[in-house]
Amino acid sequence: MGHDEEHDQEKTQDLRGSGDSATRRDQAVRAAVEQGVVGPAAPVVGLLDVTGIRAAAAELRAAFDAVVEPGTPVLHAFAVKAAPLVPVLRLLRSAGIGAEVASPGELGIARAAGIAPSDTVLDSPAKTPAELRQALALGIAVNADNPQELARIDTLVQSAPTGSPVGLRINPQIGGGSIGAVSTATATSKFGVPLCDPGARDWLLQAYLDRPWLTRLHAHSGSQGMTLEMMVRGVTATYELAEEINERAGRRQIDTIDIGGGLPVNFSSDEVSPTHAQYARRLKARVPGLLDGRYGLVTEFGRSLLAKQGTLLARVEYVKKAGGRPIALTHAGVQVATRTVYAPASWPLRIAAYDPKGRPRTGPAVGQDVAGPACFAGDLLAENRPLPLLEQGDYVAALDTGAYYFAHHYSYNSLARPGIYGFSSYADEVRFAAVREPQTLDEIVAEAGGGAERDALRHL
Ligand SMILES: *Cc1c(COP(=O)(O)O)cnc(C)c1O
Repeated sequence: MGHDEEHDQEKTQDLRGSGDSATRRDQAVRAAVEQGVVGPAAPVVGLLDVTGIRAAAAELRAAFDAVVEPGTPVLHAFAVKAAPLVPVLRLLRSAGIGAEVASPGELGIARAAGIAPSDTVLDSPAKTPAELRQALALGIAVNADNPQELARIDTLVQSAPTGSPVGLRINPQIGGGSIGAVSTATATSKFGVPLCDPGARDWLLQAYLDRPWLTRLHAHSGSQGMTLEMMVRGVTATYELAEEINERAGRRQIDTIDIGGGLPVNFSSDEVSPTHAQYARRLKARVPGLLDGRYGLVTEFGRSLLAKQGTLLARVEYVKKAGGRPIALTHAGVQVATRTVYAPASWPLRIAAYDPKGRPRTGPAVGQDVAGPACFAGDLLAENRPLPLLEQGDYVAALDTGAYYFAHHYSYNSLARPGIYGFSSYADEVRFAAVREPQTLDEIVAEAGGGAERDALRHL
């Protein structure tokens, strides 16, 4: 038996005996402590559940396979911004998932992961001419954000033939969710062509009639904080516009609808809710024409694929009391949980407590602050949170942090980017593989102008 076959068999066993995600997480924390993945020398790490990522990708594909007409082209393009890590994209690629990118960096990451141009979608709201030229040369799908960008693309497609499918992004203006900063379908959102503004619908119809090569329509109605109902309304508005354009064109000019991502994640328990399957079934019930085989489908989920697969694990360096409140000073704060620290009401995270051996800590719940290492008072992962009383040398885990957290470093206080490790268990052994090495001190100094730039200001 070759190595790959052996590996595949192990993978199958692993999936079968994987247990639930909370059990896998507790096993991984214990093993991370025992194996020194986390500890005094590496006081904060990100952990990614490889079994969970594979399962989430499989659930996503099955969810839409179950509702589309057989043979319908479906591309699930993972939103790279949710977890911009090459090994993660490669893992998703092997599970049949492509990439949605929104910057030269994200495109570079997707290409390094070997994602095919035909499985890649470019969506950023501020693409430069060079980015557009590159995408069109590679044959990557491009969604134009606005009329000026479309005019740029006009010039480019006239000067060089392209295999890129091109579409327009609309803002269905269905309203915002509970978190303003990530609501992309408000009346005044910066994204896409605002569908309900005066004259916009006519402009859109004409834009397609004038450009036979414009074959896609895209909307992404927002992320965390949107209800399933609002997402369905955004997709319905997009579908209805596509139908109207095709009717006016007298042919099936729009052949693919890109419904974006944005499935909200449940941050309050281990339950996956809503599931991609629930969303797909609701689309089937409410927008059946989208899935009846006349349109190809693109999705761009990010958070819903990765959030629940990640755990931010940090050591408790000290505990103290202030004003009667117990405080645990840990190594996870604003540098790895930026949104939660700056907007705690919008982005609360569950915290799990572990003892110095990495075993779940038990005991009566006591309200305590879980603080980060940064030098400002608001650097708290959780405030007055009821938890078993933490002690020096314990570990705290911030749960559901696989998307938009530890891979999104914020270099306040020049705190180092932590290492990120994938984990999987084989029989009773948990194995780790570095997805991203921790940033070294030398790297921090060099990135702070400590190299060739060292004397840059002396002679000005
Ligand atoms: C951020 C983003 C996504 C992914 O959103 P999630 O909430 O992570 O699913 C998809 N498409 C576009 C255009 C985005 O900006």
